[in-house]
Amino acid sequence: MAVDPDRMAARRRFTQLTVVAGAAWLLFYALLTGLSQDSEASARFVSNVIYLAPLVLLVPLCCLAARRASGRLRTTWWLLTASNLLWLIGELIWSGYAYLTPDGASTPSAADVLYLASYALALPAVVVGFAGVRSGRRLRGLLDAALVALAVGAAGWTLVIGPLLPRSPQVGAVVAFVYPLFAVTIVTVLIVVGLCGHRAVPRSILIVGAAITLAGLSDAGYSYLYAIHSYDDSSWLNLGWQAEAVLLCGAALTAARIPEHEPRVRRLDRDAALLPAAVAVVTVVCLAAVDHLGDGSLRLSTLVIAVLLFSGLLIRQALVTRDRTRLATALDAALREQERLAITDGLTGLYNRRFFEEMLHLEADRSARQGAALSLIMIDLDRFKKINDTYGHPAGDVVLAETANRIRRAVRPSDLVARYGGEEFVCLLPSADEETALEVAERVRWLLARVPMTLPDSREVRLTASLGVASAGIRGGRPLADIQGLIHDADGALYRAKAHGRDRVVPAGRIADPALDTDPDLPAGLVWLADQIDARLSNHEHSTAVSRWALLTGERLGLGQAALRRAAAAARLHDIGKINVDEAILTKAGNLTDAEWRVLRRHPEEGARLLADLSDRADLAPLVAGHHERFDGTGYPAGLAGDDIPLEARIIAVCDSWAAMRADRPYSAPLTESQAREQILQGRGTQFDPVVADAFLALLDAGAIDELAPLRLSRADVPAAPHAQRVGTP
Ligand code: GH3
Ligand code: MG
Ligand code: MG
Repeated sequence: MAVDPDRMAARRRFTQLTVVAGAAWLLFYALLTGLSQDSEASARFVSNVIYLAPLVLLVPLCCLAARRASGRLRTTWWLLTASNLLWLIGELIWSGYAYLTPDGASTPSAADVLYLASYALALPAVVVGFAGVRSGRRLRGLLDAALVALAVGAAGWTLVIGPLLPRSPQVGAVVAFVYPLFAVTIVTVLIVVGLCGHRAVPRSILIVGAAITLAGLSDAGYSYLYAIHSYDDSSWLNLGWQAEAVLLCGAALTAARIPEHEPRVRRLDRDAALLPAAVAVVTVVCLAAVDHLGDGSLRLSTLVIAVLLFSGLLIRQALVTRDRTRLATALDAALREQERLAITDGLTGLYNRRFFEEMLHLEADRSARQGAALSLIMIDLDRFKKINDTYGHPAGDVVLAETANRIRRAVRPSDLVARYGGEEFVCLLPSADEETALEVAERVRWLLARVPMTLPDSREVRLTASLGVASAGIRGGRPLADIQGLIHDADGALYRAKAHGRDRVVPAGRIADPALDTDPDLPAGLVWLADQIDARLSNHEHSTAVSRWALLTGERLGLGQAALRRAAAAARLHDIGKINVDEAILTKAGNLTDAEWRVLRRHPEEGARLLADLSDRADLAPLVAGHHERFDGTGYPAGLAGDDIPLEARIIAVCDSWAAMRADRPYSAPLTESQAREQILQGRGTQFDPVVADAFLALLDAGAIDELAPLRLSRADVPAAPHAQRVGTP
């Protein structure tokens, strides 16, 4: 957030003013202290009345800071308000003693109770401010503070204060000694929990820390002066506490002027191990040295302190180790989760495309080494946009997730399923040949189509998918090294599955052959014959395409299953009669002579005869015979017209013409799609049944009529037909 430069300048000016005012007050107080040294009454006035001024200001400023603060800082400032109020009351009592009793307050007095209570509240104020850290971290911080206080206390008492006192216990000296220890504890907590465990510690809290440090130094001086009975009201030490009060006023003003944010906990906190360890070691060494220089023997108290300090350090180390182990475990888990997320698709929980592509390379390498096959299934949901449009995008997401579940159920655990794109999925099947992959793909198709999916609002959605299957490392298939080719094959097969009407599995590299798919009883010899003729005519398929389109056209016209099967089968075999036509005629580039035409025009009847003679599929004979009849009755061989021509034959006539127009034949160049379309329109009602022509053109518009696929079997592979030999002639 950008801060207005004018406001920034105003803030800076205010801060400078505050600092100057604080410094001026301290200078003023120092001047008064110096001037009042010779007069007891003046000294009393300065140290018991003037002295109170910053404290009186401090309490409302703390209130203001608490009201402006938020979160934990608010509690901190309320605790500091209470703490400073107790300090003020303590000072009032002290001043009361000074004016009402001849010798002033003795230590301990009621004022000390309030001073101690004031410190006792400042400690939780600091702890609360940093309560955002884990409890283990806080415990460790308090332990550090206790160890430092113990070490400083032991050293201070044994080496400085203790020797100054007479043998009998002095409660006042002990109380005076507790003050600096409180300050040490608070400052240590501030350092080890606050500064080491947080970022962006609020400036006001840092100033509070500086104030308490100053107070601790003054307290230490007081403790020393008390022990040697040299403290009096006009002591220069008062300047230290004045500075504390002024700094606290500055801290409260800082917090009150600009709302501060709670400090941010460091994930990886700095460990202040050195502080307690160094203080403990120095203390023990000093104590031992003093013992040694004394009567030469180690005192029991030194031993106890050493044991306490080192036990504390040991416990601290155990806490640190436990903390770090927990942190390492959490980091490790977070890292693993990150790794998982990097390869996972968020919506479906499947692997993502990037991971799939990496694995594809690895699996291809492995399959190549092991001489195994590798298959790929590409899946694209059918008409998925419609599901989104009808039920909404969130419902679409639910369908995608359920689709992922079903695909996962259909494959082996060792197969890899990934989301390839929006509503496209891919399965990588290691060690699976084409046959296995086709089985799996069919299982996926079936699992998706069989049971409708239930949306969260209980509505049901029917869903189908088109699947393309490609295999590498199989005979006649792609080499395993050609990964991109494998993906391309599967994609092409998927495209064909879409073009052939969706909700189907199509293997790559093989021309989709609905006639064989729908009619496995089709005489294999005649199918072979059809392939031979196709190969002789061009390098592209013919009868398979005519059969596919005939099936689609029949479906569009609402034909029953039996008629559809017949149409597809007859379309596949419609040209087998050409086996008895000389190849020279079939592939002649120029115009045919009348005699040649006569031979060629016999192929529908020849085909019908072959069907009747060589197979038990006489039902297909009239369909094959009629595929060159014209709707207006001017076709051949019988000159049938209109409904006298079987519907399947009328369908084949349109599809056959389309295939012929789109093919590159020795006697004619291919027409463009729009030219061929024009031809169909022109023949509508004359050559072609208008209803059939319309159905076909509608399919064309819908993109369902696909391109002619190249033949696997090339022309060069087909032996030339022996001239004059007539197949099937008795
Ligand atoms: P087709 O049968 O030809 O595949 O038809 P389609 O409608 O499925 O066409 P296509 O594959 O081009 O449509 C993809 C749609 O999938 C378009 C987009 O709105 C939808 N889609 C893609 N990603 C998400 C997704 O994460 N959530 C949802 N709800 N829809 C998605
Ligand atoms: Mg798609
Ligand atoms: Mg789709």
